[in-house]
Amino acid sequence: MMRRLPPDHYISGIRSGDRLVLSRAITLVESQLASDQALALHILEQVLPQTGASIRVGITGVPGVGKSTFIEALGKHLTVLGKKVAVLAIDPTSQRSHGSILGDKTRMETLSMDPLAYIRPSPSGGSLGGVANKTRETMLLCEAAGFEVILIETVGVGQSETLVHGMVDFFLLLMLAGAGDELQGMKRGIMELADALAITKADGDNAAAADRARIEYQNALHLFPPAPTSWTPPVLTCSALQNQGIGELWAVIEAHQNRLTQNGFRDKNRQRQNLDWLHSTLRHQLETRFYNQPGMAERLAAVEDAVRKGDLLPVQAAQQLINTTLP
Ligand code: GDP
Repeated sequence: MMRRLPPDHYISGIRSGDRLVLSRAITLVESQLASDQALALHILEQVLPQTGASIRVGITGVPGVGKSTFIEALGKHLTVLGKKVAVLAIDPTSQRSHGSILGDKTRMETLSMDPLAYIRPSPSGGSLGGVANKTRETMLLCEAAGFEVILIETVGVGQSETLVHGMVDFFLLLMLAGAGDELQGMKRGIMELADALAITKADGDNAAAADRARIEYQNALHLFPPAPTSWTPPVLTCSALQNQGIGELWAVIEAHQNRLTQNGFRDKNRQRQNLDWLHSTLRHQLETRFYNQPGMAERLAAVEDAVRKGDLLPVQAAQQLINTTLP
């Protein structure tokens, strides 16, 4: 059990960009202990005025598409420009198997040694929605610590993409050339969320195929209805290994940020995201309180039994439980 610092130490440490203190504050955010969470909330409230100034970027793609190699290349590109970069992750698979993204120490080796970069693996445990809320709080702490770009990685499986899309300004979809859409677990829905597509590994023998894929996806995207933001998602090719197309991609992200800041959509988007966060927290806390009521396990077991036997409809059972337990 880690000893806690006095609250003011967290706040001044974060404001001065002390990454050790930042890490310890994030540990409080991720803690299941009510007292840790209360302290985390206090810290967040205090540093709130220092948050919001970063460019928030979500990055997704199927395992093996080259996410961590790409993030390392983009991260290096940014730190060379003198920007402070934080890399976070939401990983639905880490709930089951340990540390599949960012958890593996060999990943992003160079970036993790960079004094301008901060890498934090996905929090584990709890529901995906709960994990996402912790990542939102972590993002705010990183912003208060002066990080100017937040990269949030997620695996292209499950609903984690929608969650990450719901907390960033720019959503980047990485894709492989030559692999069919099905192979990539591609749903049209995810493509519709993307602010840009990047075909990875556009090097060597793969370069020509990557270029063909770029044109195909560009054509496919043209069939989508135009976004109210008047932003048309471009498709690029890149090679993280050869450091090609990385600067171009960053230029696209900056152009998007400028455009949406000017036309007001960035702030509108963030306001909507905050409302979503509110409702997701409400749902999460109501659920937790409901299930944690004294005697709930026994009541639930009894009702489950009745439902199993067919004596009670599920909807009746749910209503009974709610009416008899909630004040
Ligand atoms: P992730 O699972 O999406 O994070 O993918 P990784 O970044 O771990 O990369 C998966 C594999 O693709 C690794 O063997 C990488 O070396 C390789 N890879 C990643 N980026 C590139 C690239 O730009 N060019 C080539 N040729 N290979 C790459």
